[in-house]
Amino acid sequence: AVVVVGSCMTDLVSLTSRLPKTGETIHGHKFFIGFGGKGANQCVQAARLGAKTSMVCKVGKDSFGNDYIENLKQNDISTEFTYQTKDAATGAASIIVDNEGQNIIVIVAGANLLLNTEDLREAASAISRAKVMICQLEVTPATSLEALRIAHSNGVKTLFNPAPAIADLDPEFYTLSDVFCCNESEAEILTGLEVCSPTDAGRAGLVLLERGCQVVIITLGAEGCVMLSQTEPVPKHIPTEKVKAVDTTGAGDSFVGTLAFYLAYYSHLSLEEMLKRSNFIAAVSVQVTGTQSSYPYKKDLPLDLF
Ligand code: ADP
Repeated sequence: AVVVVGSCMTDLVSLTSRLPKTGETIHGHKFFIGFGGKGANQCVQAARLGAKTSMVCKVGKDSFGNDYIENLKQNDISTEFTYQTKDAATGAASIIVDNEGQNIIVIVAGANLLLNTEDLREAASAISRAKVMICQLEVTPATSLEALRIAHSNGVKTLFNPAPAIADLDPEFYTLSDVFCCNESEAEILTGLEVCSPTDAGRAGLVLLERGCQVVIITLGAEGCVMLSQTEPVPKHIPTEKVKAVDTTGAGDSFVGTLAFYLAYYSHLSLEEMLKRSNFIAAVSVQVTGTQSSYPYKKDLPLDLF
């Protein structure tokens, strides 16, 4: 199974012809609510490929929280360790997007920041039985670190996605990561190096590898990804096919969720083969608008991926 310790966010999206100025009220032409949060996104993608999944997270005891739990259940995700709190609202992102695709976003992490180490101790049975545990940085770093410790000490493969990135990440995050997977801008923040090409990514990847992760993967959007590991510390570029991207939001989460699925259920495959397949599935997601709504199901994908 795949266990995710991470965030749930409700996206409140308004589409407008232009962004409002300070103090101004304008009319938008469309509003919709979406399910987001990096943790839940990754969990949904893994579940849609057929992984048995569990979401360890915290939402508010409010209507958005109730709706989110329903969304997890509809994706066949176990909510046994999805907590609800009265002390904060469900995490929310207020998003305004104009006709040019420019946006203004305010995120209030809310209940996500109240997921604590005591909750994890309760969920430890589920974490320790999993094949793969994924976490990110949309819950407090102390909580993610504890999740990594529990998984690591129980021999569960850890997939850490340091997003959103913080420059002075605790060194333990690296030594507890079996697989450390980030995008270009996160790699830049973590290493202080510029990352604009596969060659740059290889250089940054070496810096991250030296900090003690077993495997480093840096995703490069339409360029695919770069991988390197303690056993093969020479950076390898895994390109992806050219597709017509219509909405790349959440591509990284589709990639991470897919990789977790392959690590958990297809451990006989080489890492390179898993990454080729993760590139392919994330590329499917960028050809459809929306975040979770763009993530493919196993039944919609070529049979040779499974
Ligand atoms: P993030 O969503 O975190 O910014 P990336 O942009 O690096 O992450 O995308 C993650 C993965 O999604 C890439 O490694 C690639 O496999 C796929 N992907 C993203 N954008 C495209 C694109 N335009 N064409 C094809 N694949 C893409």
